[in-house]
Amino acid sequence: MLLVFCTSVLSMSAQNTKKDVLQSIDQKSESYGEISQAIWNLAEMGYQEEKSSALLQKTLEEAGFTIKTGVAGIPTAFIAEYGSGSPIVAIMGEYDALPGLSQEAVAEKKSAGGAAGHACGHHLFGTASTAAAIATKDWMVANNKQGTIRFYGTPAEEGGSGKVYMVRAGLFNDVDIALHWHPGAQNAANAGAALANKSAKFRFHGFSAHAAAAPEQGRSALDGVEAMNMMVNMMREHVLSDARIHYVITSGGKAPNVVPDFAEVYYYARHAKRDVVIDIFDRIVKAAEGAALGTGTTMDYEMIGGTHELLPNLTLQKVMFDNLTEVGGFDYTLEEKAFADKIAKSLGKDNADISVAKNIQPYKTEAKPGGSTDVGDVSFTVPTVGMSAATWVPGTPAHSWQAVAAGGTSIGKKGMMVAAKTLTLTAIDIFSDKKLVEAAKTEFREKRGSDFKYIPLLGDREPALDYRN
Ligand SMILES: [Zn+2]
Repeated sequence: MLLVFCTSVLSMSAQNTKKDVLQSIDQKSESYGEISQAIWNLAEMGYQEEKSSALLQKTLEEAGFTIKTGVAGIPTAFIAEYGSGSPIVAIMGEYDALPGLSQEAVAEKKSAGGAAGHACGHHLFGTASTAAAIATKDWMVANNKQGTIRFYGTPAEEGGSGKVYMVRAGLFNDVDIALHWHPGAQNAANAGAALANKSAKFRFHGFSAHAAAAPEQGRSALDGVEAMNMMVNMMREHVLSDARIHYVITSGGKAPNVVPDFAEVYYYARHAKRDVVIDIFDRIVKAAEGAALGTGTTMDYEMIGGTHELLPNLTLQKVMFDNLTEVGGFDYTLEEKAFADKIAKSLGKDNADISVAKNIQPYKTEAKPGGSTDVGDVSFTVPTVGMSAATWVPGTPAHSWQAVAAGGTSIGKKGMMVAAKTLTLTAIDIFSDKKLVEAAKTEFREKRGSDFKYIPLLGDREPALDYRN
């Protein structure tokens, strides 16, 4: 009896304090480093992340989580769950790579010979979130805590809007709080911001003909694309100045002496408010229709992505910031510093300011949006909180070969563990403090507004599982 009592006290004390939890995460940092490296090596693109998703599923299953895979009609999406009842805390993890950015883990531009690279650090994102879910579960077990911890395996963040389908399928509806993070060049837990985004591929169809012998019989699909682009470029003068419109011509014909019967242009429209994006996108469609009419071609388009802006939750954000401050940053070894200086030189700087990785950025309650994220849709469904960790050499932009390179080194792995620890401590706070959950929900309801209705910006289309094919 005494023995049983003693062991239970011991096992409780083993995970009782936040310091103990941090130590237990540190002990597993090598194995998580291996997992992130494996996903970095795989570098699978959006909706093709079969092996990356399977590896994270296996890791969570072995830790005692129940896995539901292929959710929301997406083969590489999954939910891993432990526990029962409320609160239900969700930790999101991504694992898709970016096309065309294959890179070795060296401080010079050098392709690893693959089709894609982890230029947004999502191999670290998925792995650290997995580590946090498991560490939270271990703490729940050791402390006999009620509630449910879930890991959401969310594919195709880069342009595929994977989370939007998961939100649309109602998979977040019973969640109390959602946590996420993102790899970056700094350690920060500020109120996030993101641009709402709508993207589509516009396809023009004409008639082929010999471009010199019988041009009158041809109708150029490329003319359709060019006329559309011209109109949209004129439209830029008549939209809000902080709107963003960008495109690439993904198909424009094969030979100048053949009138192209098919051409395609891929568009993004973005703004900090989704209503503005919806309006701009509708006008882009009108330009495409007008272009088809004027060039004697036909046009159809396929919605590809659509995401809400980000709704920050300051109640949770402050808690996450305090935890990040407690976790702290990390030091570079001499070898890492030499690597960092080379990377800094490639970015036009004299050397890398590695003190940035050691420090935590001051707390800010406002942010200027740059990119977009499908976390936006989650943040309009449940109170959501996030952070970034210095997984890249300070000064490195996302979506660069320098980001891929650092992500494949010990720098990325050290940064990732800062995130794993901060997410875990924040989840523990949520499980320990009912008032915190209530306060976060109150703020969420007030900010979202009582008349809010969730309407996915990508409409009712099925997941674009082949958008990277
Ligand atoms: Zn990303």
